[in-house]
Amino acid sequence: MDLYEILEMIERPVLFASRDGFRNVGQVKGLEALVLKCLDNLKSLPGLDAAQHSHIRLLESVFTGFEDFSVPRKTECLKSAAAVVRDLKAAPQDRNQIERDLSADSGLQPAANIPGELEASFQKLSQPVQYLKGVGPKLAELLGRKNICTIEDLLYFLPRRYEDRRSIKSIAKLRFGERETFIGTVISAEIRKYRRVRVFEIRAADESGIIKAVWFHGAHTYLKNTFTAGRRFIFTGEVKGSPLLKEMAHPDYELIDEDDADSGFLDFRRIVPVYSETEGLHQKKIRRIVRQALDSFGSRLLSPVPGEICSRLGLPPVSEALENAHFPPQEENIDTCNNMATAAFRRLVFDDFFYFELGMALRKKSTVLEKGISFRPGGKLLERFFGSLPFKLTGAQRRVLGQIQADMGRPFQMNRLLQGDVGSGKTVVALAAMIAACENGYQAAIMAPTEILANQHYLQVEKWAGILGLKAALVTGSRKGSGKTGTAGQIAGGDIDIIVGTHALVQETMKFRRLGLAVIDEQHRFGVVQRAALREKGGNPDVLFMTATPIPRTLAMTVYADLDLSVIDEAPPGKKPIRTKVFVEKERGRVYEIIRKEIAGGGQAFIVYPLVEESEALDLKDATNMAGHLQKDIFPEFKVGLIHGRLKGDEKDLIMAGFKSKDINILVSTTVIEVGIDIPEASLMVIEHAERFGLSQLHQLRGRVGRGEKASYCILMTDYRKTESATRRLKVMEQTNDGFKIAEEDLNIRGPGEFMGTRQSGLPDFRVANILRDGRLLDDARTEAFALVEKDPDLLRPEHALLREVLIRRWGSKLQLAKTG
Ligand code: ADP
Ligand code: MG
Repeated sequence: MDLYEILEMIERPVLFASRDGFRNVGQVKGLEALVLKCLDNLKSLPGLDAAQHSHIRLLESVFTGFEDFSVPRKTECLKSAAAVVRDLKAAPQDRNQIERDLSADSGLQPAANIPGELEASFQKLSQPVQYLKGVGPKLAELLGRKNICTIEDLLYFLPRRYEDRRSIKSIAKLRFGERETFIGTVISAEIRKYRRVRVFEIRAADESGIIKAVWFHGAHTYLKNTFTAGRRFIFTGEVKGSPLLKEMAHPDYELIDEDDADSGFLDFRRIVPVYSETEGLHQKKIRRIVRQALDSFGSRLLSPVPGEICSRLGLPPVSEALENAHFPPQEENIDTCNNMATAAFRRLVFDDFFYFELGMALRKKSTVLEKGISFRPGGKLLERFFGSLPFKLTGAQRRVLGQIQADMGRPFQMNRLLQGDVGSGKTVVALAAMIAACENGYQAAIMAPTEILANQHYLQVEKWAGILGLKAALVTGSRKGSGKTGTAGQIAGGDIDIIVGTHALVQETMKFRRLGLAVIDEQHRFGVVQRAALREKGGNPDVLFMTATPIPRTLAMTVYADLDLSVIDEAPPGKKPIRTKVFVEKERGRVYEIIRKEIAGGGQAFIVYPLVEESEALDLKDATNMAGHLQKDIFPEFKVGLIHGRLKGDEKDLIMAGFKSKDINILVSTTVIEVGIDIPEASLMVIEHAERFGLSQLHQLRGRVGRGEKASYCILMTDYRKTESATRRLKVMEQTNDGFKIAEEDLNIRGPGEFMGTRQSGLPDFRVANILRDGRLLDDARTEAFALVEKDPDLLRPEHALLREVLIRRWGSKLQLAKTG
């Protein structure tokens, strides 16, 4: 026998005894004699080096007297024995791997020259799943459908939930109203009809009694083929029915095979992991291959989060965490498991966040240090601007402007996100920053996502430019033709100080003479590329991003983790809450009366429709038709206007001007008015088919009213039929005007991916972490990561070498891509 064969003889019973949180320790007999005999054989092998001999002696001392140890002491012995055996088995160049794993997790400094070893470890983990015993091409393909291609993918394919099968009851002992587990043999199965509804029904029995299980919907044929009489299943579900006949509806079930007895208790008598399934790939199969991957490769995982951090936060080593996340130890609390809140899970989540935040910390440092313009602080022009404003800045506006000016004063590029609810007064702040840039002899540009919004900004900018003696220009797609070349020339020549525009601003033909500050309004509406393009016009201009979609803090921390954040959290004085109410179709008459009264009282109304023209959805009202109908049949005494996205730029201008001057009383609109429109007299907003809009969109739309003196209202028209989440959205709208609360709710309803809009969400895809569930850990990870980068700015210290390597593997290219955001 050679070294490996002997070692395997030792390892097998050791691993068996160690499984499932060492529950077999008590049962294993004769381990001491077996191991000592094997060690004798080992010692007589030729060619062992000194290290190997010392390992063997270590094992000898560990196992001498083993049979008489207490269970906890045996457990300790097995733990160290497993590590020593693994180490002995490792190829000489990998020999010290285990020590490194341990030392990395315990904060000891790993030796130098790690990348080579790390490489070996990564290579093992990135082997295809087919490398595992029992995984053939067919199974590999099924796993591939779940994006599980490598061993590492499989190790990180964590349970969706857990089932507590520590106690399996007899049918007689099942308690009503509880979620219980029993094993029963199918005695009958049939499809029955109850009032035209087909129900699949079986009876199952054990020696203590009979129970009924029912399925109201689902694939009856499949069920019928599954539950053939005589088969034994394990069932879990809530116990209902009567004392005469207990019943479970839609229980979870698993077939018990003949060979389950020696399957190592993966499926019963423990907390059992439940994975997300794919057709042809069942729980038991997944459990077995995961078990195998853990046994063969679990210890290969490296995650060199400094041990000092782990012990402070109570996080176990990563290999232990992974083992317990798949197969929780016997004593674990089932609710903690299902809340994904065990120490094991927290460690894995922390890992996700930690590397991400580490990347962010490094990136932020490098962006901050990007050379930029050092503007002199505000002078005469800015003073004149503040002097002529008809109001005083709010405390929040002063604070964020202070932050922006401090950034502008530094010789680095500014990279700041200004968040503030609709109407919180961001535009004034941006204007002040732009004037400061101009005062320093630079150009400033503001880019808006729509022409209407660009026009709106331009009106303001032009007014102030006139007062302050600056020159302003507007650049939009529809402003082509002869004028444009002139404007473009003036901008390139430096005759224009403030440039307002749409994405036309970032076209290649656009040249600036000395762009010093770029403001990007409603930045989430621009693609990553467009944002980067404006930032790269000219010599490193300072960049201010603005958004009226308040992004919940945890999300902002991940998506904009490398931006500095300023928040206007105070509304200008006199801003009244907008009273909001849901109306259903049959109350339409009343809604028209409300509109009539509002206009008679000097107000103006918006009516918003989700679509421009009748499309395949016949029940959807067509804004064009409705505008005609309202004008002719309902409000002949008022002027009804119509605006939508297909109108040309100057047509839109004309209509908006008409509404502003009150020539138009009611403006029917598609969602083109969504952002930034400022009509102080508009006091009533009616949103048709409100159930079809998303929450933040509803909030944006509503923000178009309530900007003036008058008390304002928002009416949400809706169908009777609507989804549960639509009902929830409308309720939130009725309950609050607070953009941040609304955003939090929106995030809860839709989840992070959809909330950000999937296409350019900039959301990192974490392996385990969920930013909604794990916000606290995100905070911790961020604090720790930033502190670490503070201490070791380029992660160049030898004890961080592994960390840097792992970081590059995990996030390398993605961090680079996200940089343009
Ligand atoms: P936002 O861009 O954040 O949606 P705006 O800058 O358009 O908000 O401001 C909304 C309205 O509030 C505008 O009519 C603006 O003139 C007014 N406003 C802004 N700041 C103040 C302030 N400090 N006091 C009073 N009114 C203000
Ligand atoms: Mg604005």
